[in-house]
Amino acid sequence: MRDVIIIGGGTAGLTAALYLTRAGVKPLLVEAGGFGGQITSSPMVENYPGISSISGMEFADRLMQQAADSGTDMELADAGAISRNGEKLSVLIDGVDTECRAVIIAVGAKHRELQLPRERELCGRGVSYCAVCDGAFYKGQPTAVVGGGSSALQSALYLSQISSAVTLIHRREELRGDKLLYERLGKQKNVSFLLGAQVQELIGDNELSGVSVRDNKGNTYNVAVNGLFVCVGQTPNTAPFAGAVALDESGYVLAGEDCKTSMEGVFAAGDCRRKAVRQLTTAASDGATAAMGALNVLNA
Ligand SMILES: Cc1cc2nc3c(=O)[nH]c(=O)nc-3n(C[C@H](O)[C@H](O)[C@H](O)COP(=O)(O)OP(=O)(O)OC[C@H]3O[C@@H](n4cnc5c(N)ncnc54)[C@H](O)[C@@H]3O)c2cc1C
Repeated sequence: MRDVIIIGGGTAGLTAALYLTRAGVKPLLVEAGGFGGQITSSPMVENYPGISSISGMEFADRLMQQAADSGTDMELADAGAISRNGEKLSVLIDGVDTECRAVIIAVGAKHRELQLPRERELCGRGVSYCAVCDGAFYKGQPTAVVGGGSSALQSALYLSQISSAVTLIHRREELRGDKLLYERLGKQKNVSFLLGAQVQELIGDNELSGVSVRDNKGNTYNVAVNGLFVCVGQTPNTAPFAGAVALDESGYVLAGEDCKTSMEGVFAAGDCRRKAVRQLTTAASDGATAAMGALNVLNA
């Protein structure tokens, strides 16, 4: 029987582990892929307070080392269904039920892709899913953003301060995002809109040099860009927990700022939780909050 099981070894899960071990609890942290989570795929992080500049991999390594040094038990395994039986909770880890008193779900999310040929090959070579993270690599160069929601508009606005020109490409004739953002975008001289159009093909051998776009009337044309920012949403990795805790319509765990879910003793932290801002700072903040919540369960 474990005190606390943390599912997911990204920033939220590792921070929760750190807070628990410092409070004298030895949690089991279960990670299905690679410790560190999403940030390991970022070349540079420049917005984490106290650290001017660091690669995503080094950030993740440092956090993992800190959690390991503090005494966290770490296991590479896939965690699934959570159930409650009286006072005890149970988590299915690689097919084996493990009992505990509190659970922290910190499984993060993954970005949606356009599902275009060579999209993965060109990721990091012109194709990106995070303007705030990678925009600076395209200083003075033409870029495009795909998507019509607020995150696409925000990305285009952000890039308009860096790129020589930004083209916003959206498959519908109308944008879904915040009207205020749209108005602000319209005032930027280097921003243009391609509405009712979809990217058909990524152009470029080793690096992206353009995209082929087809509009709803059947016209096809090429747009020269060095950076293509895909902002068509994210999918949280919460499917295994759908029967246990309440999720919203997009699959994010319904949990407030206290990180409590609909199941007693189960907390959600980081990008998998429904919230407005998904960044390292907010993941770390959730990790700390969820850990304190789990401690309250143990001390009850
Ligand atoms: C390319 C890129 C660049 C970014 N750059 C920045 C930046 O510069 N600054 C910034 O603040 N934010 C940045 N972000 C966002 C930041 O990485 C996320 O907000 C943060 O990583 C969220 O942390 P998390 O712990 O909630 O989730 P994640 O980092 O996604 O970690 C979740 C972990 O859970 C594991 N997992 C999933 N399902 C299971 C399961 N069933 N069992 C066990 N383990 C499981 C996953 O393998 C993963 O390791 C970037 C994101 C990307 C993709």
